Formats: sequence, structure tokens, C-alpha cells
Amino acid sequence: MSIKKMGNIAQNPFYDTINSSRNIQDNPMNAASSFQEQDFLQILRGTIPERALFTKGTGAYGTFTVTNDITQFTNANLFSSVGKICRCFARFSDFTSEKGSADTNRDSRGFALKFYTEDGIWDLVGSNSPVFFIKEPAKFPEFVRTQRRSPKTNLKSTTDMWNFCCANPETLHQLLMYFSGRGTPKGFRHLNGYGSHTYSMINAENERVWVKYHIKTNQGIKNLVPTQAAQLKSTNPDFAQEDFINALQNGDFPKWTLYIQVMTEDQAKNFRWNPFDVTKVWFHDEFPLIEVGEIELNEIPSDYQSNVEEVAFSPANFVQGLGLSPDPILQARIATYGEAQQHRLGRHANLLEVNRCPFSPEKDKSEKNGQTARNFSEFEKEDAFPESFYSENEDDHFTQPGLFYTKALQDYDRIELVRNIIESMNEISGPEREEVINRQICHFFRANIELGMKIAMGLQINIDANMMNHAGS
Ligand code: NDP
Repeated sequence: MSIKKMGNIAQNPFYDTINSSRNIQDNPMNAASSFQEQDFLQILRGTIPERALFTKGTGAYGTFTVTNDITQFTNANLFSSVGKICRCFARFSDFTSEKGSADTNRDSRGFALKFYTEDGIWDLVGSNSPVFFIKEPAKFPEFVRTQRRSPKTNLKSTTDMWNFCCANPETLHQLLMYFSGRGTPKGFRHLNGYGSHTYSMINAENERVWVKYHIKTNQGIKNLVPTQAAQLKSTNPDFAQEDFINALQNGDFPKWTLYIQVMTEDQAKNFRWNPFDVTKVWFHDEFPLIEVGEIELNEIPSDYQSNVEEVAFSPANFVQGLGLSPDPILQARIATYGEAQQHRLGRHANLLEVNRCPFSPEKDKSEKNGQTARNFSEFEKEDAFPESFYSENEDDHFTQPGLFYTKALQDYDRIELVRNIIESMNEISGPEREEVINRQICHFFRANIELGMKIAMGLQINIDANMMNHAGS
């Protein structure tokens, strides 16, 4: 067998930096037998290491077509004219999944996009939620630990998750979305994507606005009820992947519409919350969605391993006319994703085919680095987490979850949400059970009294005056 036909790793020009400590072509043994040995080794070594998070996923290539002129906000080449088309790649995944886990588990979904623009790579590394559990990077390791298997028992622990949430009430907004129907989407075609963080756009006059990205499914939102999700878990753990691939194979290409919300610098200074707080949304009526373009996914990659597995996304990949923000979680992702990808894929991860810009890689690299450096220093100058953006509502973790319960959800959704939360909290065990439940119920009360009442009743908790006091505060 020739080395070129040996499969993914051998085709990889950086094979030596990833896996091999010796060059097989220097092997004095007869070529045929040493190649067989490599075949054995390749099978035994496996391929590249799995992602630590968002492990199980699927992906496809497609196109992004501009449908609306947003050049007043950005001079990014890919948005320069209506009708302009840019190739893109999307990867969908389950946040806390493991290879082999069920696609219908309650979880957040990754929705990451790579745009191959004429000016280089732009990655929009989003999820199916407009908010995240935490807003401070220092809490990330502990949060992720509670989502994964316990280092002691190697089991996942619902108690650990609620223990973290009750001590960190900023998780409430994302928690309510997680336990709503959208926590068990019907595959990847029927969910929205969100950039979640605040980003920026810069126009030809060098004026900056803050933006949030919304990627709305044209297929319509569809979720699974818990019984359907549980049944599929045992009958078809690859349900979401299969649904996605089948649709593409049948020529039923899924589409999403990309929108932005825009906030001016002045609006940001007067916003009632910190505009860079990723646990908050910007209300639609104050910051209406502005259409940008349409994404169609229409090409299953020829090789899963060298595309879906080797794709490496980072919010540090962006192009002229687009920018970052001082959101601390975004800054932490910018600082760490590149290194994590290099650990997984080798130090030339950005030059692997799926990650490389086909237009001008050298220009891409130098411009990108220059722009990243410019932005970091820009935010340093302004103060990485500017005082002026701190708001007196910094500890208001309850208004938006309350509006989510009363405004975003329908009657049926509210019943489902309460039922899902009760079912999960009933699994809290151990000596801390009572304290964890009581603390968490206070948070629900503060968001909405009816929500707190219903969950407390479902858990058969006596509602004491203390909890009600929280509701009024
Ligand atoms: P609106 O009252 O204008 O609309 C409510 C939005 O809620 C919908 O547009 C939909 O967003 C979203 N939604 C509905 N069901 C769910 C669900 N189960 N999980 C997640 N999102 C859902 O919203 P406002 O802007 O006035 O904000 C009110 C509340 O709505 C917020 O506090 C927030 O909790 C929630 N919300 C707001 C979003 C925003 O960006 N403004 C986005 C998502 C939720 P979509 O159209 O994106 O599907």
C-alpha cells in the first residue's frame, strides 16, 4: 500500500508533529512490510484526540449568500454586496457529549460556522442558546467539571450540576432555556444558532458598533418531548446526525437566515445591563433583528475525519470589518481555543485543508494576527472590562429569566419546563440535597413567583417566609 492511500493521518502533511516519532521512509526494512506495520499502528493509535467538549458532531459545507446591505455597519468583504456568495462549513455538536452518547440527551448544542472569505477565515463559534451559564472565565473550569464525569466516581452527577447552579444564580437564564423544549431539539436542522457573545463591526469610516448574531432556522423550531427523546436514546442514539445527513443526501438542503442586532457605542453606555454580559440578551423590540443573509448547507464532506473532526474553530479567526468585544468569556475563548486546537491537531492545525482559506493563506495569517493584536491592545487601552460598562444591575440575574418564563414561553412550554426541572431536581442526592434545593428555589422565586411555587410544590418543599422574601427582593 502506498503511503498516500493509508488514510487520513498519512495524508496529513503534519503527520510527524501529531503522531509519529520516526520517519517510516527511512526505515531500512523492506517497504511493503513497514507500511503494513504503519497500518497496524494507525489502527491501534486511532486518529486525532477527541475534543474535550462538543465531542460528538456532524457537519457540512455550504454557501452563505448576502440578502441585505449592511455596509453601513461593516466593510467586511463577505458582506460587500447583496447576492455575494461565500463558501462556509458548519459543525453541529452536543456540548457534553462523548463519542457514542445519544444525540437526544438534554444538552446545549454547538453551532459553529467557518466562512472562507476572500480576506481569510471568519469563524462564528456559536451555540443554540443566546446566553451562557456564566459570565466570568474563572468559573469555567468548575462549571465544566459539573457537566462531565466526576473525577472520583466517573459518573455524571445531577447533584454537582445543581450545586453549582444554586451557588451561581447567573446560570438561571441559561438553565431555563436548557430545561425548556429547546434542550432536546429534534435534530440539528430545527434549531437556531446564536453567536451569544457581543461582537463588533467596523465600517469604512472606521466607526464601530456592537453586534449580536442570530442564525434562525428556516425549517422552523422543532423539539422532542421527553418521552420521544428517551425512546430515541435507546433506539437511535445517532438520531440528529442521521436526520441531518439523510436530508442532505435527499437534496433537502437545510437553510438558516443570519441576522444581527446592532447597538451603538452610546446605546451601550446607557444599556440597563452590561452589554458584554453573556448571561443576558438584548431585547428584540429595542434592538430589532436586521437580516444579513442566508446559509444553505448542501455538501456532505468526502471524509468525516479530515473535515468534521479536524475542523478547528476559534473566535480569534476574524477578518477586516469584523471585531471582538471586551466580554470576558469571549476574551478567554480567544486566548485559549487556538492552543487547544494545536494540542488536538498539531501546531499547523490552521493549515489543514478544512481550516485553510483557499484564497490567500499568507494574507489571511498576517492580517488576522495584526487585527487580533490591534483589538487586544484596543481593549487594554479602554480597560479590558471597562468600568463604564458595569451597571448597577450587575447582580440582576432574574429579570430576563422572569421575562423568558412569562413572555417567551407559551402555556404548554411552561408546563414542560416546570416538569423537566422537577424531574432533574428530584435526582439531587446526598447530605446537601435540602440546602441545594432551597437555595435554587429562591432563585426561581426571584425570577417569577408562579415558577417558584410550581417547582416547590412539585418537589414537595414547604415554602417558608424566607423564600417568599427572596421573591420580593
Ligand atoms: P420577545 O418577546 O421578542 O421574543 C421571545 C423570544 O424568545 C423569541 O423570539 C424566541 O427567540 C425566544 N424563545 C422562545 N422560546 C424559547 C425557548 N424555549 N428557548 C429559548 N428561546 C426561546 O423577546 P425579548 O427580546 O423581548 O426578550 C424576552 C425574553 O425572551 C428574554 O428575557 C429572553 O429570555 C428571551 N429571548 C430573547 C432573545 C433575544 O435575543 N432578545 C433570544 C431568545 C430568547 P428566537 O426568535 O431567537 O427563537
